[in-house]
Amino acid sequence: MAEKNSELMDKIVSLCKQRGFIFPGSEIYGGLANAWDFGPLGVELKNNLKKHWWKTFVQERMDIVGQDGGIILNPKVWEASGHVAGFSDELIECKNCHNRFRADEIDIKKCPACGKNSWTEPTKFNTMFKTNIGPTEEKSSVAYLRPETAQAIFVDFPTIVQVSRKKLPFGVAQIGKAFRNEITPGNFVFRTREFEQMEIEYFFNPKDGWQKYFDQWLEDLKQWMEKVGIDKSKLNFREIPDGERAHYSQRTIDIEFEFPFGQKELFGLAYRKDYDLAKHKIEYADPETNEKYVPHVIEPSLGVERGLLAILLSAYSEEEVKSEKRVVMKFTKDIAPIKVAVLPLSKKPELEKVAQEIWAGLSKKFMAEYDITGSIGKRYRRQDEIGTPYCVTVDFETLNDQAVTVRDRDTMKQERIKIDKLEAYFKSNL
Ligand code: ATP
Repeated sequence: MAEKNSELMDKIVSLCKQRGFIFPGSEIYGGLANAWDFGPLGVELKNNLKKHWWKTFVQERMDIVGQDGGIILNPKVWEASGHVAGFSDELIECKNCHNRFRADEIDIKKCPACGKNSWTEPTKFNTMFKTNIGPTEEKSSVAYLRPETAQAIFVDFPTIVQVSRKKLPFGVAQIGKAFRNEITPGNFVFRTREFEQMEIEYFFNPKDGWQKYFDQWLEDLKQWMEKVGIDKSKLNFREIPDGERAHYSQRTIDIEFEFPFGQKELFGLAYRKDYDLAKHKIEYADPETNEKYVPHVIEPSLGVERGLLAILLSAYSEEEVKSEKRVVMKFTKDIAPIKVAVLPLSKKPELEKVAQEIWAGLSKKFMAEYDITGSIGKRYRRQDEIGTPYCVTVDFETLNDQAVTVRDRDTMKQERIKIDKLEAYFKSNL
């Protein structure tokens, strides 16, 4: 049966809360609007996504290195980059109900909150969070929480060139928190004021031509999205037309995903020319030809939480098994928060002892969980719902044959495997 969109979103939000993936932060104090915390499973999922990205784009590539810049940079960085003057959204307020909106996000014929059509003039609102360095709140001590991770990569570029001894073309990757004082956060973790980004600046000599790099990046991102379990049938690659693009960008593609609340930007890919390095007055000297120039960049910019939301929506599936509903999160094996669950059939001490030994052994290699609570059927359902690829059941036969039952999440097929072969089995299957 086709899933109604709003229903699917409700199901994801409630599953995330119930199973401890993602839930409202500061809840005992009434929460903080649109702020979410990640629980034991959510943090695994998030780390797996970040690890997968890092492995694909840093570890396995000869032409990309990593870095980890600060959240608070010298405020001159944001002046030079244009953020202090221009990192703003247009804010409008409904004169009737006083709700505020981002002017580019709504159809201003009708207020989405009260239906009236009476607006204040749009005003520019800089979405960078301000803070102060040191104990006094003087103008000279103003600093900003970074609204993107990319700028540290630009300002550190000369140092990275020196220490990495990389020659162009090469890229620098960074993962970290970013902060934007969004006017209208919402849609679960889609738009929040605190979020994480995974960004790469890929530097090259403009004489090489930018198209081939851009095409390659689009291809690399497509492959990566498929590997982490983002449903490619829900993706749309929106070519941003002239006039809508940032003035310095020659080509931008918004990678959009069909979220239940609409087709929206998931990630971005932009050719930013030499805009950023030129603003910071940074040049590169080719070590062989001594040619001096300002490198151009292509920037794949990915939001961790938006990626996770797309993965959660892509993974959710409902099946009917023996006239009962089975909910399965079909995470890919790399992304699944728990890889193996060890389930003793009963609480008999002799079974628990063997099961705990198996769990302790497997835990050294894989994120494994031990669960003894409830009937075996209920425990399987719980593991299906959190997307665990394999369950290991220790039963009374185990004491005689030193073997366990391994159940596959997707096929629900069960296989008898000797305990001493388990690690090898999971090494080849996970
Ligand atoms: P939007 O138009 O949705 O505000 P943007 O074009 O401003 O997004 P970028 O500046 O290109 O976004 O940021 C790169 C990526 O960072 C986005 O594609 C998205 O994945 C993520 N991102 C940006 N803002 C937020 C936010 N407020 N909450 C969560 N993720 C975000």
